[in-house]
Formats: sequence, C-alpha cells, structure tokens
Amino acid sequence: MIISKFSNFIHQYLFSGEASFYPTQYGCKNCGYMGKLHRHGYYYRNVITVFGTYKIKVLRVKCPSCKKTHALLPHFLVPYFQYSFYTILFLLFLNFVLGFSYSEVLSKIEKYKSLCSLNPSSLSRFHKRFISKCSEIKFFFANFTDIYPEFDLNKSGVLIKYIISYERRNISFNTSYFDSMPSYFFSS
Ligand SMILES: [Zn+2]
Repeated sequence: MIISKFSNFIHQYLFSGEASFYPTQYGCKNCGYMGKLHRHGYYYRNVITVFGTYKIKVLRVKCPSCKKTHALLPHFLVPYFQYSFYTILFLLFLNFVLGFSYSEVLSKIEKYKSLCSLNPSSLSRFHKRFISKCSEIKFFFANFTDIYPEFDLNKSGVLIKYIISYERRNISFNTSYFDSMPSYFFSS
C-alpha cells in the first residue's frame, strides 16, 4: 500500500469512479527502486465521508524491479477503514478536543446521513486505536516535523490539534506519516 498526496481537484473524479487522474508514482518501499511504478489494474473500495458514501476506483501499481504490487491510496483514505481520514479526524476532534461523549458525538453527526450507521462501538474502536497510536504519532512530530510535542501524553486532544495544524499548511499528515514511519497512521 502506498499513500500519496493527491491534488484536491482529483477528488471529484475519484468519487465519480474515474481513476485516470491518478498521479504517476515513483519509488518502491519494498526494494528501494527509485523509478516509475507501472499501472497494474484497479479495484473498487467504499469510502464514507460526512458528505456521502462513495465507491472509488483504487489504482494498483507494480514495481518493475521486485514485481511487488502496491495499492495507491489517495491521502484521504485510511488502509482497512471505510471512513475517510478526515471523517475519522473529525470524530476524534469531537471526542478528544471538544470532550464529547459517544452519545453526544452521535447526536452531533445526525445531520450527516452517510454517518447514520456509526454507533458507540465504532467510535470506541476509533478512540482506542488513536490512544494506541499516540506515542508513535508523538514520535512522528518530534522527529519528522518542526512541531515539538508536549510531554504530557495523556493529552490526546493536543495531538489531534497538531494533526489539524499540520494539515492547515496544506501538507497531508496521512502521507507524511506513511513516508516517514514504518506503519500506517491508524494501523493496528
Ligand atoms: Zn520494488
């Protein structure tokens, strides 16, 4: 799996199932090959956002050197999660920064029809997963960005704010994290 920063104008094409706008991908993490990876088919995948549920085409690329295939995920997708990166971040923001309980989060998001299947157990899953990744995320900020994380690890809300301020610079946290760290953001 490769997580790549896509231009915003591409999103609407992906959401309408059009995949010809995928950017050319260079570099294989598996073998260290630096050249262009070749297109190698597509598969469909659901993505749930606050605006709706979409089926998007995900491009596979193949490394001409080691022959390994990689799925090329846009930066707004999280591997193995149907909810988009920004939707998960929004839910974590309500939970950790604004201090909403799960039931308060659920009543807050009632107006988003695409999120109506969310329940306390999925919120709890996001919550626990984020807690389990906090020290790794802190390591990422300390070592690969100019943001110096606070010492108090219990303040998960602070890390959410770091991620949001990082995104405000028009840098994809999800992509940078993938490029720098050995595991995906939100991987188990
Ligand atoms: Zn390779």
